[in-house]
This record gives sequence, C-alpha cells and structure tokens, in this order.
Amino acid sequence: MTATHVEDHVHDQPMSEVALRSVAIEALLADKGLLTADQVQQQVNLMDGRTPADGARVVARAWTDAAFKARLLADSRSALAEMGISIPAETPHLAVVENTDDLHHLVVCTLCSCYPRMLLGRPPDWYKSLAYRARAVSDPRGVMAEFGTTLPTDTRVDVLDSTADMRYLVLPCRPAGTEGMSEEELAGLVTRDSMIGVTRLSD
Ligand code: FE
Repeated sequence: MTATHVEDHVHDQPMSEVALRSVAIEALLADKGLLTADQVQQQVNLMDGRTPADGARVVARAWTDAAFKARLLADSRSALAEMGISIPAETPHLAVVENTDDLHHLVVCTLCSCYPRMLLGRPPDWYKSLAYRARAVSDPRGVMAEFGTTLPTDTRVDVLDSTADMRYLVLPCRPAGTEGMSEEELAGLVTRDSMIGVTRLSD
C-alpha cells in the first residue's frame, strides 16, 4: 500500500485499528489489480442503499402470493429478481426460512456478523455483540423474552448460524386480523427484528 493513502486519513484524526486495516486491505486489492477504488465505493453505496424496508416488501409479497412464497423459499435469488432486487453473483447464498406456529427460526452469526445485508442493510450493534452471539445459541428463548416475545413452549426453536457462504432471512408469521390489508400496508407491519427472528409480529 502507499504511504500517502494512509496519510490522507491520519491528517484528520487518528484512525482506529479496524479502519487502518480496511484502508490497508483496500490499497492492497487495488495495488494487485483485484478491485478498483470505484468498485469498492460502488459496493459501499449499494449496501448503504439497503434497508429493512427491502426485506419487508419481500415478506409482504410472500404473504400475499403463495406461488411467490414457494419460489422464494426454494430459490431466493431468482424470486428476488422478480421484484427487481438483484443479488450480485458473488454475494453469499441467501436462504429464506418460514416461521410457523410450530417452528420458529432465530438468526445469528456466532463467528462474526454475517447478516442478510442485501435485504436488511447494516446489522444493528447488538447483532454483532458477543452477548447475542453466545446467548442466541445457549438461550434463544431468553434472548427473545428480552425483546418482548414469549414463545409458546410447544413451538420449536431453530437457531440458524450464518456463515460467509450462507445468510438467512426469516419470513415471519403473518399477524392475525390483517386479511384486508394491501401488500404495501402489510410491508409496513414487518420489522427488522422479526426478520432476524428475535421477535414475532403477532405478539
Ligand atoms: Fe459473520
């Protein structure tokens, strides 16, 4: 990497170790001709443009269109493409998992912070915390209780550990009493936390 690249940043204020590392990695990738600064910036812009509203639109479509839901659960990439949401080929596989009355999914990344950013944007800080990463596995019901959701004891909990190759989005149960709502109104009900699985919408 070039010294000037780092100096551009340190004139403002000292960089954190993580920030220094990311600048160094970006400079190395550019030096080796693997990525250009423009490509890095494009990816950052793409991620910054994603929010949980994207995931909520997908959930609302799945609730109102059974055929779409089946395609989404079977092959999320092509189903999302139908909605104009393109997932770049190099992005990890995204599995959409459906919650039911009998089975609840909770998503975590025990190793770091893998997250379905293409549909939810950046993960919340708690998702990246050591406490969540450990307790989501050892005590998922306790974690959910802290988010205000008490699962019935006969509902099975499946904790899904995300990886660099596999991300998960939870398809929450559609709340009762929403039969007359439009897809857009339904999307407004869907929260980020319900798509991670720490809450249920019907409670
Ligand atoms: Fe991770």
